[in-house]
Amino acid sequence: MSLTKMQIKQLLEENKDHGCEGYGRDRVCVRIVAIADLPSRFGDFHVVAFYNNRDGKEHAAFVHGDACFAEDVAVRLHSECLTGDAIGSLRCDCRDQLEAALRTLGQMDRGILLYLRQEGRGIGFINKIRAYGLQDHGYDTVEANIALGFRDDERDYSVAAHMLDSLKVKSIQLMTNNPRKIDGLTAHGIHVTGRIPLVIPPNEHNRFYLETKAEKSGHLIDFQGKEHLEEQLDRPVVEGMTAEQIAGVAVQ
Ligand SMILES: [Zn+2]
Ligand SMILES: [Zn+2]
Repeated sequence: MSLTKMQIKQLLEENKDHGCEGYGRDRVCVRIVAIADLPSRFGDFHVVAFYNNRDGKEHAAFVHGDACFAEDVAVRLHSECLTGDAIGSLRCDCRDQLEAALRTLGQMDRGILLYLRQEGRGIGFINKIRAYGLQDHGYDTVEANIALGFRDDERDYSVAAHMLDSLKVKSIQLMTNNPRKIDGLTAHGIHVTGRIPLVIPPNEHNRFYLETKAEKSGHLIDFQGKEHLEEQLDRPVVEGMTAEQIAGVAVQ
């Protein structure tokens, strides 16, 4: 079962003139503008296009199965990463995480991936590449991290919470390795009934995650010598990690 024509019609009609006081400090209000079928290599999805009243960012939801109007829906939040998602950059793990999430969701009865257009944790593409450039020129991760902006997570939770409400999701199971992230959604009134760990298979590119030494040094350096910045909200768990390493990932 996936979204029915009636459900699509209902969502579009309800959202047509939607306006509310907004979510979070920035008073973000989103509305569904278009919905279409999206068969993918990870399974059959519907793609839902959202308008955003604050910054014009066009967020997207990828809905698998009968996930709208439902309870205990598996949900993954993914922040846009052009270099990782589209190009397969090895400076981050975004694509591994995105693929693992879509593959997992696609095999479930129902699930939703929210694709949030907040490149570089919301600082934008240009600033993200500036941070990369700083690293290339020998700046340490602290400066690069400041440039990358470890901003408060308030804003993306408010967008995500509004999107889930727009999709009429009654309760969710959040796909995350960091239990603390659940609080961010709960604060905006989302009913989180559980957590699903996101586990990605090991490959040569995420091998550094398995190396305790890299973990202990406080930042992650891959086998090509490029330091990794955390662009997603939580770090991935790679199959084969020890219990201690997994616990280290969960605390951020
Ligand atoms: Zn609204
Ligand atoms: Zn990335």
